[in-house]
Amino acid sequence: MRKPLIAGNWKMNKTIQEAVDFANEVKGLVPDRSKVDSIICAPALFLDRLLAAVDGYNVHIGAQTMHYEESGAFTGEISPAALEDLGVSYCIIGHSERRDMFNETDESVNKKTAAAFRHNIKPIICVGETLEQRERNETKGHVANQVSKALQGLTEEQVKQLIIAYEPIWAIGTGKSSTAEDANEVCGHIRQVVESSYSGSAAQSVKILYGGSVNPGNIDELMAKPEIDGALVGGASLDPHSFLRLLEAA
Ligand code: PGA
Repeated sequence: MRKPLIAGNWKMNKTIQEAVDFANEVKGLVPDRSKVDSIICAPALFLDRLLAAVDGYNVHIGAQTMHYEESGAFTGEISPAALEDLGVSYCIIGHSERRDMFNETDESVNKKTAAAFRHNIKPIICVGETLEQRERNETKGHVANQVSKALQGLTEEQVKQLIIAYEPIWAIGTGKSSTAEDANEVCGHIRQVVESSYSGSAAQSVKILYGGSVNPGNIDELMAKPEIDGALVGGASLDPHSFLRLLEAA
């Protein structure tokens, strides 16, 4: 069966020293890798130091974005080859904040997903609806469309290694989480989309996370749902105790 996974998304928070202190505090206390995978997606400038700090522990380090091009005139961007070179094994792709503020599109998400696989980086693809879309009952259609476009051209073997995070935009950073039932329903719908485009075994292998105001108070009921394999966590991943509590619950 699918191993649970908790991924922290630190966004643009912490200093490098605070990040290293966090890693040193949690690394020895993280549950065994047979039980859960833990990932910290940190600002690019922290990655090298974090990788060194968690070496040998059940903590993986991920980036929060990258470019899809190999190299070239892309001032300020991060290349997938550089992440691979550093030893980064995961990357968030298409977070709603990047779609909203940094012109990320379904097309760029698709290209970045392919680029991640070329460089042995596991993509964590984010999808999710706005409040208006939810109120118009468009959630499932919108999310299915985002997933289909992100996966275009991928092989079944690649899809089996994918992580998809369902993050309703209205639930991110608002303290207003989706109910576990609603989150489970949309995650199940995403699994059906994978099944109809690929296969039952691809659908059973792909990991689907819920994200949006996950915290130690609601993680248990989310994790109890069969379609939810873990969580992508912003605010509650910044504090070591709360991050460890989420890992224990998973
Ligand atoms: P949040 O953020 O947990 O602070 O709501 C989640 C995310 O943006 O991935």
